[in-house]
Amino acid sequence: MSASTGQEETHNIVTARTAVSLAALTTLQLGGPANVIDADNDRDFRDIVELVKPWASPPVCLGWGSNVLVADRGTDLPVLLMRTTGISARNQDDQVLLTVQAGHSLPDLVDYCRAENLIGIETLAGVPGTVGAMPIQNVGAYGQETADTLTEVVAWDWQTQQQVTLTAADCALGHRTSRFKRSHRWSILQVTFALTRSHLSAPITYRELATALDVPLDSRLPLTDIADAVIAVRRRKGMVLDPSDPDNRSAGSIFLGPVIDAHQAETLQRKGGSPHTYNDGHTRIGSSWLLRAAGYELGQEITPGVRVSSKHHTLVADTGATAAGFAAASSTLRAHVHQATGITLTFEPDLIGHEPAYTELTQPLTTTNPTSPHAFPDRSKAVS
Ligand SMILES: Cc1cc2nc3c(=O)[nH]c(=O)nc-3n(C[C@H](O)[C@H](O)[C@H](O)COP(=O)(O)OP(=O)(O)OC[C@H]3O[C@@H](n4cnc5c(N)ncnc54)[C@H](O)[C@@H]3O)c2cc1C
Repeated sequence: MSASTGQEETHNIVTARTAVSLAALTTLQLGGPANVIDADNDRDFRDIVELVKPWASPPVCLGWGSNVLVADRGTDLPVLLMRTTGISARNQDDQVLLTVQAGHSLPDLVDYCRAENLIGIETLAGVPGTVGAMPIQNVGAYGQETADTLTEVVAWDWQTQQQVTLTAADCALGHRTSRFKRSHRWSILQVTFALTRSHLSAPITYRELATALDVPLDSRLPLTDIADAVIAVRRRKGMVLDPSDPDNRSAGSIFLGPVIDAHQAETLQRKGGSPHTYNDGHTRIGSSWLLRAAGYELGQEITPGVRVSSKHHTLVADTGATAAGFAAASSTLRAHVHQATGITLTFEPDLIGHEPAYTELTQPLTTTNPTSPHAFPDRSKAVS
């Protein structure tokens, strides 16, 4: 099927909108055109399957586009815009099972749980995106992650051409990863979570959050207090989407927090870092701290229109930015951190379409100047 005809192609009640700018559908506001199919409550997914068949490749699903970098030339693959909404609740033993449609807003789900006194996802307050995208990278923040509460995923498997139900174990959820990450084989249609009813939050396990609330670790507080505190912390870092914020053209953290060993953790802690040990037993250091320690300044422009956020060490886009420039800027940061520390950062957002600059961003880095596996320039010593 051709990439753009400038006309609508109709199949049953489902149509593909052609030559749609994906920039308008992503939070970085970058990326070229694609054929877009709206998957919403009015459309039967089987009709979408029929419409997609001629491409002979699985489509790219898009929620809010808050964790993708789309090539300047867009993509030839059809893009499914996941816009189905709805939450259904049922009691099971002492838990409440929530089945949520893929296009439903995650912030709305967090608000729903807050209103219903359901605990388990309260520290995900302020994370943008859709519920269907949560399993893709096991979305997590401030001590909770999707894996803590997810029980089941219903998806369309484009390889076997059938609807499947995957258990949490089938999803292979890991730290910001799963069997779905960087695969377009499955379109997630709905997600089920098991939550517990309580007006007190789950115990706080994330030190930064406990510090912000001025309570010891493992404290339990009213749900509203937790969600408000998380949003306040996130807002200070520009990690909530806010159209009035000049740092709003963001994909959140652009690198995963790398795993470090006990010796590196001790060294980085001495230099002011805050390593955190996650549910999988691995200790990680925030990539933003590494960028700061490597000498990057807030607001610093890296490539035309691409700069470090003015609040937090991640990249954001301004007027003049391109996907190629964003990828090149990310590669520069990655190479510099590697040179300074020996640590290789992994780009977090999913790369959609083809861009020559993607190659450098994803290739292994070889140690050219291994002064020390965790040495920083002197200027990093005061980093806190
Ligand atoms: C300001 C900001 C802060 C952020 N903070 C966090 C954070 O604290 N923790 C965190 O984990 N992430 C964070 N993110 C990243 C982002 O919010 C999450 O990855 C979120 O799950 C993306 O949802 P989305 O709907 O925008 O997905 P998209 O960006 O649209 O898609 C992301 C990936 O998921 C796939 N996908 C989306 N929906 C489906 C579906 N239904 N079926 C199959 N595949 C699908 C896409 O193809 C793509 O590969 C942040 C992003 C921003 C901009």
